[in-house]
Amino acid sequence: RGIQSFTTAAVVEQPITPPIQVNYTKLVINGQFVDSASGKTFPTLDPRTGEVIAHVAEGDAEDINRAVSAARKAFDEGPWPKMSAYERSRIILRFADLVEKHTQELAQLETWDNGKPYQQALTAELPMFVRLFHYYAGWADKIHGLTVPADGPHHVQVLHEPIGVAGQIIPWNFPLLMFAWKVGPALACGNTIVLKTAEQTPLTALYVAKLFHEAGLPDGVLNVVSGYGPTAGAALASHMDVDKLAFTGSTDTGKIVLELAAKSNLKPVTLELGGKSPFIICEDADIDKAVELAHFALFFNQGQCCCAGSRTYVHERIYDEFIEKAKARAIKRTVGDPFKQGIEQGPQIDSEQFEKVLRYIRSGIDSNATLECGGERIGSKGFFIQPTVFSNVKEDMSIAQDEIFGPVQTILKFKDIDEVIKRANTTRYGLAAGVFTTNIDTANTLSRGLRAGTVWVNCFDVFDASIPFGGYKMSGIGREKGIYSLNNYLQVKAVVSPLKNPAWL
Ligand code: NAD
Repeated sequence: RGIQSFTTAAVVEQPITPPIQVNYTKLVINGQFVDSASGKTFPTLDPRTGEVIAHVAEGDAEDINRAVSAARKAFDEGPWPKMSAYERSRIILRFADLVEKHTQELAQLETWDNGKPYQQALTAELPMFVRLFHYYAGWADKIHGLTVPADGPHHVQVLHEPIGVAGQIIPWNFPLLMFAWKVGPALACGNTIVLKTAEQTPLTALYVAKLFHEAGLPDGVLNVVSGYGPTAGAALASHMDVDKLAFTGSTDTGKIVLELAAKSNLKPVTLELGGKSPFIICEDADIDKAVELAHFALFFNQGQCCCAGSRTYVHERIYDEFIEKAKARAIKRTVGDPFKQGIEQGPQIDSEQFEKVLRYIRSGIDSNATLECGGERIGSKGFFIQPTVFSNVKEDMSIAQDEIFGPVQTILKFKDIDEVIKRANTTRYGLAAGVFTTNIDTANTLSRGLRAGTVWVNCFDVFDASIPFGGYKMSGIGREKGIYSLNNYLQVKAVVSPLKNPAWL
């Protein structure tokens, strides 16, 4: 398999059956499924209807304490960090094989809990999940230190050691992929983990934690706590026995966890946060292809992507034609039950996000952007929103500055390259950007001028296990995926000894 893109999803051939039962709803602590210490549970909802799928154990500070103790013990005393890296790699590979065997159930569960099209979960996200673990399993036995030529008669070894107990907090938009981005590198480096899932989508992480133990992962190495942010998440971020924190979520919550980490034990923190990514379409572009790619860049995953191409900049010479075609494409988009064949867009994740997106649509109308199509909810139950397109958008409108995180395309007009670079760089974010042009000079000028962690040229949302991902500015700190993620989970130790010394004699 080459570079993986969400655009390559094949058509599902087997009939789609909705999931029948949910087997794993308890916390995973020290290799066991356990109730929360308080005995409390919370409902996880089906975004198609708003109905309850299952009640899941609600972990809070006490459960985080239990999970961190288990992870601490597994790190300090357990076999995992000391095991041969080859053996660690084999356990991760066995896990990936088990996930492949259960791909269909996992894709069903992901769709049920999140609302994303089943075909997308099955043919793009599950294969990417497996690929991530293959990639990091491959790294496990290739992580090593070095020696350095110090001045003077000293032998210096630089060791790369696992950092310890990793705390990981993930969002709801790609529950399995966010799990893979964090757990893969942490385990490959020999760390132990406490992972907190998003309260909207707790189900698939509990399922794959079960598969990890079946694959031979020692108890306590991977602990999964479902629960809410201000309780379980905050307890993890501020825990004195957690050695490293990795967080993905909104910029506002990123600031909170960074402060909690600083005020407790100064644990290092990596942050993958929000975005308002520009997608720039130049005058030389093939308009039909540009319309399709810009549509995909924004509407993919119900618009719930941190890197969504959510500011579509179009050159003035092709602007009017582009608007007509972008509108026609959005009207054609198929919205409905994500389990049905051919559905491109399911519901938004929950009522909170649904209301937020509708509020932004109203604000776009109030600020005199032109509503080309959409703008309303669909049906009377669940969280479905019409694919929405705004033209005549200006940078000072909140729909051009804030992360809407929904199916709302905002289209802006530009005149020349220097001007669009300046305008594209005006938000507080810098996660990703897209460029569409047939001119290599334009592509180079734009990709170097844009302040973003990823620039996709004539493509969008191409994700590969080896490609680093992360943000400039308030879109984050650090990088995930590729070799860059390994450094997040390693400590560097210098061991210095004299080459010649009386003690050796
Ligand atoms: P969120 O910040 O509300 O929640 C993310 C996670 O943080 C959840 O697990 C939540 O329970 C937890 N949390 C909430 N409050 C907390 C607190 N006080 N202390 C500790 N943890 C807390 O974000 P969300 O709405 O779940 O996700 C959407 C956001 O995530 C968007 O802004 C999106 O751009 C971003 N995101 C970024 C990336 C990336 O790689 N940069 C990927 C996916 C999503």
